[in-house]
Amino acid sequence: MKYIGAHVSTRGGVENAPLNAAKIGANAFALFTKNQRQWSAKPLTMESIGSFRQNCSDHGFEPKHILPHDSYLINLGHPEAEKLEKSRAAFIDEMQRCEQLGLDRLNFHPGSHLKQISESECLTSIAESINLALDKTQGVCAVIENTAGQGSNLGYRFEHLAEIIDQVEDKSRVGVCLDTCHTFVAGYDLRTAAWCDAVFDEFESTVGFEYLFGMHLNGSKKELGSRVDRHHSLGKGELGLEVFRYIMNDARFNGIPMILETIDDTIWAEEIELLRKLED
Ligand SMILES: [Zn+2]
Ligand SMILES: [Zn+2]
Repeated sequence: MKYIGAHVSTRGGVENAPLNAAKIGANAFALFTKNQRQWSAKPLTMESIGSFRQNCSDHGFEPKHILPHDSYLINLGHPEAEKLEKSRAAFIDEMQRCEQLGLDRLNFHPGSHLKQISESECLTSIAESINLALDKTQGVCAVIENTAGQGSNLGYRFEHLAEIIDQVEDKSRVGVCLDTCHTFVAGYDLRTAAWCDAVFDEFESTVGFEYLFGMHLNGSKKELGSRVDRHHSLGKGELGLEVFRYIMNDARFNGIPMILETIDDTIWAEEIELLRKLED
């Protein structure tokens, strides 16, 4: 079974996310549990937590089909000690928010070396950040997203994801999220079924589908290998529609949250319907 949704708004409180997801016919969703552009946030209230859990159960959303995303400010591989510390503390706060909401996974971008340390030093620092966070929390998995590789962001090669996982102590609480736009602009061609076969075989041999805890389903405005992260609606732009047909008909993508972060939220309901129609 495929679980599809979008990164929905939490305007008015996190408890509104499941309601917004239900409105567009989703059976999965993503959300920010705090303002993604600010460092600090008020703790979630008991009332908000209770309503969130109630609304999820009323609309049939299970934790494993919900993919919270952390703040864009966090850099778990920051080369400067003080800033790394700040990111690690903020990440632990995000993990704890997930715990409070009864969620079992947190999606995040691995981090950037800012041209001050080597790729491998940065990847080790990211893994250490994950270890620290897993140590301080329970039941929440750290889900590393592959990136477009813009600037000095790591995570644009499957090998980066593998190198991080390799250094995480509790392998039962680490996973990855593949974003179709990021994968494509990072240089993995997904425009035909044959190329999808090749890319996902490479993913299987480098990382392994047992670590796949979520997907982001996005079109791309930018071309293959451009390493520029500009999402587009499904079937629009450079990526085409074939990859989505492929994913919808491949059992390796069953049971995980697959989330639209496409640019026009007014057509999310149609995009979900389109994905359902691509299923044979
Ligand atoms: Zn994404
Ligand atoms: Zn992106």
